[in-house]
Amino acid sequence: MRRCRAAVVGAGASGLAAALAASQGGGGVVLLEANPKPGKKLLATGNGRCNLTNRQISPEFYHGDAALAAPLLARWPAERVEGFFRSAGLLTRTDGEGRVYPRSLQAAAVLQALWSACEAAGLELLCGFRVERAAAEAGGFLLTGADGRELFAQRLALACGGQASPKHSGGLGYELARGFGHSVTGLSPSLTGLAVPERLTRPLKGMRCKARAALCQWGRELGAESGEVIFSQGGVSGVCVMNLSARLRGLAGGGLALRLDLAEEMASEELEAFLRGQCAAFPERPAGGLFAGVMNLRVGQELAKSLGWGGRRFSQLSREDLRRAAELAKGFSLPVSGPLGWDQAQATAGGVPLGEVDLSTMESRRQKGLYLTGELLDLDGDCGGYNLHWAWATGLTAGESMGKKGGSGA
Ligand SMILES: Cc1cc2nc3c(=O)[nH]c(=O)nc-3n(C[C@H](O)[C@H](O)[C@H](O)COP(=O)(O)OP(=O)(O)OC[C@H]3O[C@@H](n4cnc5c(N)ncnc54)[C@H](O)[C@@H]3O)c2cc1C
Repeated sequence: MRRCRAAVVGAGASGLAAALAASQGGGGVVLLEANPKPGKKLLATGNGRCNLTNRQISPEFYHGDAALAAPLLARWPAERVEGFFRSAGLLTRTDGEGRVYPRSLQAAAVLQALWSACEAAGLELLCGFRVERAAAEAGGFLLTGADGRELFAQRLALACGGQASPKHSGGLGYELARGFGHSVTGLSPSLTGLAVPERLTRPLKGMRCKARAALCQWGRELGAESGEVIFSQGGVSGVCVMNLSARLRGLAGGGLALRLDLAEEMASEELEAFLRGQCAAFPERPAGGLFAGVMNLRVGQELAKSLGWGGRRFSQLSREDLRRAAELAKGFSLPVSGPLGWDQAQATAGGVPLGEVDLSTMESRRQKGLYLTGELLDLDGDCGGYNLHWAWATGLTAGESMGKKGGSGA
């Protein structure tokens, strides 16, 4: 049977980082990946541009065990992650909102830099090796693949990712962790769109507009964010809405709504006065175009249609009509049945509780010599590079610790 010093299960973001860091402590590191190639999800990140970290790393942008993660995040500012990539030969660029990307704006460049560094460090990659069983044995761990292959490793890192976007990754990480006595909190899709009735979004399918989006339950605002809102059949997405989806974690269903302020730059009275001015200046225009100067044309037309004005003209709209119109534009409310599914999700809410891991090394508190990293753990971040940052920070921490001579073994 093959034997190695350290095995990392999962060649995604955190696994590549962990394996590379572990290799700095010497050879004998094996990276096992179920897919035919490493980094499949990494290539899809940031729409192929890979938003790899953010200059504003802070627990406030994370959900789950965010308070426990604070010391680790403090040790890993964005600059440290950027320094790691610089040492792998990759320069970065930062946009106006602190989001950090590879200088080339290519996720492929991130994967190439990581993999070249891994090769130079003598790391061995075994693709198509889907680990189905992992068991602690004297002096290490016995790993068994779906095809019956076996590998014995003195130390083991589980970097299997979460449940989001199963076409890119998704494996048995939770089951493998449970096998070592870890618990897994309830899992739900995060950074995904919100599901709204199809009949409401069908006419708006494909439309994008700026709005302040507020997620409400029984009329109470749970969170709000401004940005671009995208309508699809049966769903609403866009970065601001995806960030709001994280608020659904652990929430009892019912009474949920997404309230869109489609004219957030204007106070209600200001908007009403503008609409009155429009009616006075252009009395012959059809009422369906009332919102034309304020928001996306199609979205405005649908709003006007919902007010039931039929074939009326601006001159036929009363003061009360215009008050209602302004009210609707400032608070267009769509009932929400929950998050869109795992296929559209970019992150997993829930996972192995951080309290079950020593966050100074990422070593399991349940099993000596075992390390856990990335999305498998109960921490998920907002859009903006926070999730990959977590993957790098936990992967590098685990790898450094695994690579240390004389560290703990199973
Ligand atoms: C479309 C999309 C875009 C995203 N964009 C961004 C972005 O721009 N910025 C950002 O910060 N975050 C982004 N994310 C989130 C980010 O990709 C994840 O947070 C990150 O990849 C998690 O890293 P990980 O190492 O924990 O897991 P993964 O990257 O998912 O890697 C896990 C790996 O383990 C392998 N594996 C699992 N089980 C087994 C097994 N039993 N045996 C062998 N191999 C196994 C999987 O095949 C996979 O390759 C995006 C996510 C998606 C889906």
